[in-house]
Amino acid sequence: MKRQKIAGLQISGVFFVGNADRLVNETFISKARWLTIFGAPILFWLDGLEIPPSLLLVSAFFLLYNGLMQFYLLQKSDIPVSPVVLSLIDSVYLTFLYYTTINNNEGMPQLFYFLILVMGIRHGMAKYHWIVLFSGLLYAWTTVARSYFLGNRPDPFDILMQIVFFAAFGIMSSYILKKDYQQQMEKEELFSELQAAYQQLCVYNAQVEELANTDPLTGVYNYRFFTERLEKEIELAKKFNRSLSLIILDIDHFKDFNDTYGHPAGDLALKQASKIFKQNIRDKDVLCRYGGEEFLILLPSTGVEEAFRCAERIREAVQHHTVYIGEDKKPVNITVSGGVACFPVDASNGEQLLRIADEVLYSAKHKGRNKIHRRL
Ligand code: GH3
Ligand code: MG
Ligand code: MG
Repeated sequence: MKRQKIAGLQISGVFFVGNADRLVNETFISKARWLTIFGAPILFWLDGLEIPPSLLLVSAFFLLYNGLMQFYLLQKSDIPVSPVVLSLIDSVYLTFLYYTTINNNEGMPQLFYFLILVMGIRHGMAKYHWIVLFSGLLYAWTTVARSYFLGNRPDPFDILMQIVFFAAFGIMSSYILKKDYQQQMEKEELFSELQAAYQQLCVYNAQVEELANTDPLTGVYNYRFFTERLEKEIELAKKFNRSLSLIILDIDHFKDFNDTYGHPAGDLALKQASKIFKQNIRDKDVLCRYGGEEFLILLPSTGVEEAFRCAERIREAVQHHTVYIGEDKKPVNITVSGGVACFPVDASNGEQLLRIADEVLYSAKHKGRNKIHRRL
C-alpha cells in the first residue's frame, strides 16, 4: 500500500512539473491548473481502492489527461502539432516509469530530468529557470513525502544534494539550449521586421496606385483609370446582359469664366462642380475628369432613362449652386451641358459609347447649353 501512496505522491508532483510550463504561461493557467489539481486526487483515489493500477489503466489515464490538455491547447490558435506528439511520448514514458516505480519502490529523478529537458526543448530559454526551480522543489518535496511514508527520516543533506544536482543539471541544459533559443529569437525578430517592411510597402503601393489614378485638382479619377474601367464594365455588361450608361459633362463657357474671374477662380469652380457631381451619383458609379472642364460618369447596370435623369439632376444642382469668388466673395453661377449614351442600345463597344456621348453633348451645346441630350 505504501508503495502506491508514494508513487501517487510522486506522480502528483510530476503532474505539477509536467504542467509547470503551462502554469507559468498566463494563457493556459486556469484550465491547466484545474486539470493538474484534479489529476493528483484521482491517483490517490486509485491508490485508496487498493487496486494496483494496471499498466493499461495508468496508460489510459495519462493519455486521457494529456489528450484533454493538448486538445485544449490546440484550440488556442498558433500551437503547432509537435507538442501533441511530444506529449504522447511523455505519456508513454511516464506510464513506464510509474509502473516500474510501483514495482521497484524507487523514486523517479529521471522523470524530472526528462521533463526539464522536454520543456526546455519546447520552450527554449523562456521561463526556463522557473521550470528548473519548480522541478527541484517538487522533487525534494516528493522525496520528503516518500521518506515519510516509508517511516524514514528524510536526510536533509540528501535533499540539499538533490536540489544542487537539479540546479546544476538545469544550468547545464539551459546553457545547451540557450544557443537554440537565441537563434530562434533572432529569426523571429528578423521575420517581424520583414513583415513590418512588407506591410509598409503594401501601404505605399496602395498610395502610389491611388495617386496614379486620381486627378490632383478635383480628387476624382483620371482618364487613365476611366479607360481601364470602361473596358471592364463593358465586359461585365456583356457577360450579364446588362446596360451600361455614360454621361459626359462639360462646363459652359468656361473659357470666358477663366478670362473674367481668373484661373484660380476657375480651379475653385472645377472643384465645387466635381463635388456636386459626386454627391448626385451612386457609390458604384465612376466619376472621372476627362480633361480640362470635361467629366465622365460611368453608370453600371443603368439604362438610358435612368442615366438621363441622373444627368438632369446634376445639371439642375450645378445651376442652383453659387461659387463665391475672391476676397469679396463675389457670387457667380455656372452651368453644365451633358450628353448621355448607353451600351448596348447606342453603342456596341466602349470607344463608340464615348464617341456617341460626345456627339450628343455637342448637340446640347449647339442647342444653347445648360442642357442634357441623348440620342433620339
Ligand atoms: P463651351 O461652353 O463650348 O464648353 O465653352 P468653353 O469655354 O467651356 O470651352 P473651351 O473648350 O473653349 O474652353 C475650356 C476652358 O477650360 C479652357 C481653359 O481655360 C479651361 N480649363 C481647362 N482646364 C482647366 C483647369 O484645370 N483650371 C482652370 N481654371 N481652367 C481650365
Ligand atoms: Mg470642353
Ligand atoms: Mg466647356
